[in-house]
Order: sequence, then structure tokens, then C-alpha cells
Amino acid sequence: MRLGVHVPIAGGLLEAVARAKRLDCTTMQIFSRSPRGGPAPKWPAELLERFDAERRAAGIEPLAIHGPYIINLASPDAFTWKRSVALYRDEYARATALKADYLVTHVGSHRGEGEEAGMRRVADAVSRTLDGLESGVTILLENTAGSGQGLGYRFEQLAEIREAVTDRRRVGVCLDTAHLFAAGYAIHTGAGLDDAVASFDRTVGLKHLKLIHLNDSKAPFDSRVDRHWHVGQGHIGLDAFKRLVNHPALKDVPCILETPKSAEADDHRNLSTVRKLAHGAKSARRLNTVCV
Ligand SMILES: [Zn+2]
Ligand SMILES: [Zn+2]
Repeated sequence: MRLGVHVPIAGGLLEAVARAKRLDCTTMQIFSRSPRGGPAPKWPAELLERFDAERRAAGIEPLAIHGPYIINLASPDAFTWKRSVALYRDEYARATALKADYLVTHVGSHRGEGEEAGMRRVADAVSRTLDGLESGVTILLENTAGSGQGLGYRFEQLAEIREAVTDRRRVGVCLDTAHLFAAGYAIHTGAGLDDAVASFDRTVGLKHLKLIHLNDSKAPFDSRVDRHWHVGQGHIGLDAFKRLVNHPALKDVPCILETPKSAEADDHRNLSTVRKLAHGAKSARRLNTVCV
């Protein structure tokens, strides 16, 4: 499996790659700017080239950029929406300059205007962003926990937004396991996981699932509360993650951990937990083949 973490860029782009290398990541995610606003760092062309070369030499791909939280592509307020679209276009250009594969996007909040109107605004914003910007970056709509007036907590909504985008070939989906669980998809049970996968395939289509955010949840099932937690130590649990990372429909989808970290050791611990779950199943299968 391709596995990585969300890496901070506070120490610069090259330190981000170095950190991903130290953690043996085979994929990574970064913010291209502070997610809560403020000016974006400017990167000279030579630095961008070095970043790209070092990342590829280390076998770290795909590269995902997570968009800033201050963007609300569903906003009913004309001023906020226009500002969000301008910032989002800039972010898409930054992802392109970083030679990223994906730009992970929160679909936003309709702020009381209604879900249908909100979804139309998101699709319009994404269509405008893609229009005229040549790029190999695929936009990934991320599912949400469904708190407040946030959109994207049902597969049907992600499918509807994607279908409404003009150039939808450049739009896929990123599924966050903590958000799925909080939104009421029972991925903590074997049957619930199978149901969720089948439902995703019927609505969005599995071929559009490009990335998984592998996070346990500190918030209970169907709570609509978004609280990421260490893999296997939350309400989703270790058994469920074992089924997740070995599920035939999911095992080849790159996974990024967005689990809490106060030090690099936290990422290291969560990564080795996941590697053991994936590796353990493989050894068991090999053993079965030999015995039978
Ligand atoms: Zn996210
Ligand atoms: Zn996420």
C-alpha cells in the first residue's frame, strides 16, 4: 500500500520531504500556505524544482495538497464566494507549481441557504477554477463529518457536485475515515464497511476514489463531530482498520494519516500500526497458501 502522513511545511518544502523520507512515506500531503489565512509563502523556481526532484527520487507519490480552511466554495454571500473562488484558483495554481497530483478540497457550508443551492455553488466554483487553467492536478472533494451546515457528508452529495462540474475528468474524491464514521457510515463493522463501499460505488463510482485519509475518531459513531485520533485507539478501532487497509476495493488507494502529532514519533507510531495491519494480513494469506 502507498502510505504517508500530512507533513508540516513550517521548516520549508525541503524539510517536509526530508521528514517524509525519515518516516519511510510513499505518499505525502502538505498545506501550501497557512490553512487559516495570511500571506502564502513565495517559492523560487529552483526550490520548486528541487522539491519535485527530491520527492520523486524518494518514491513519494502521489503528492496531495490540502486546501486552506478559510475557503468556502458553497457560501451564499456573494463577496465571500468570490473571494473564496479567487483564493481557490490561486491554490490550484500553487498545487500545479508544486507538481502535485491532488488538491484536497472541503466542499464548504451553505450557511442556511439550503443544500441544493450550496452544491450548485461548489460545482460552479470548481468549474470556474478548472476553466482556462491547464494542469495535471486533480481536485479531490473530501467527505465531511456533517457538522453544522457543512456539505459533503453523503456520497450522493459528492456525486452530485462532481457530476455538475464542466470538466469533471479532473475531479475525484478523497474519503476520510473519521468523517465517514462521524457522519453515520458504519465502517467500524465488516458489514457496514462493505455497505459503505457498495454505496460509494453506486453513487460516485470507485474509480473516482483517489485518496483515503486514514484517521481514527475520538468522537462516537454518527455524532457529526470531527475529531481525528490515533489509529486503533478511537471508536473505529484496530479491527476495523485491519479490514479497511486490506479491503479489496480500498487496498490499492493511497492513504494519508492526519492523526494528532506533537512530535515526529507520533507519526512514526501510527504509521507502524498501519503497516503491521497491512503486512500482517499478507503474511497470514501467504501462510494459508502454504498450508492448504
Ligand atoms: Zn480535510
Ligand atoms: Zn481529512
